[in-house]
Amino acid sequence: MRIDRFITVTAMGSRKEAHQWLKQGRLTVNGQSVKLAKQQVEPGQDSIALDGEVINYAPLSYYLLNKPAGVLSATKDSRTKTVMALLSTADFRADLFPVGRLDKDTTGLLLLTNDGQLAHQLLSPKKQVTKLYQAQIDGLVTAADVARFAEGVITQHGTKFKPAKLQIMGLDLTKKQSVIQVQVLEGQFHEVKRLFQSIEKPVLKLRRLAMGPLTLPEGLPVGQYRPLTTMELTALK
Ligand code: URA
Repeated sequence: MRIDRFITVTAMGSRKEAHQWLKQGRLTVNGQSVKLAKQQVEPGQDSIALDGEVINYAPLSYYLLNKPAGVLSATKDSRTKTVMALLSTADFRADLFPVGRLDKDTTGLLLLTNDGQLAHQLLSPKKQVTKLYQAQIDGLVTAADVARFAEGVITQHGTKFKPAKLQIMGLDLTKKQSVIQVQVLEGQFHEVKRLFQSIEKPVLKLRRLAMGPLTLPEGLPVGQYRPLTTMELTALK
């Protein structure tokens, strides 16, 4: 394949960047500097490097899954079905993994990829990637709860959570239940459930609607997935 294509399929950079790097003499094939975008390379055989660093050839895949309840966001489990089992045989690859965890009973947006660099960026606490959830809550959520979340909850056990944006979407006064959306910056274990435990209003149902710039597509049925669009991928990187 052409070297500029190699750069895009390995997700090292865009075609435009590949052309710039070629012009700047930053790309080498088997140690020889190359300048032409039409230069042919044999992935897996030729050693292609940017600034002396060899580029790994593992075509990168990105799938956006609407996770159903009852499956684990893990690559393997001896007892319970994992999200990997939802991929078709054509799309399944052993190096794919879910980016972060959703609880077994949580539904919604989950990214599956083999791009470790991107996963690291999305999960790094330093990057503070926002996660938006919709939840059904047992109890009536109040403006005081909204203010408490905005300040940053400190639980009875002393765990501190970063400020979270809580929005009341609907209240059912008869059932004493609420529908809310909450945007969090961290990815602490059972974060949303623990936030609501701290105000003694348990989460009944939880669905992730967005992660950073990625949003759960309206028309994607639960249990289904699709590749990320180029626009989604560009927004993520
Ligand atoms: N917070 C939770 O409590 N559970 C999830 O699955 C995700 C966020």
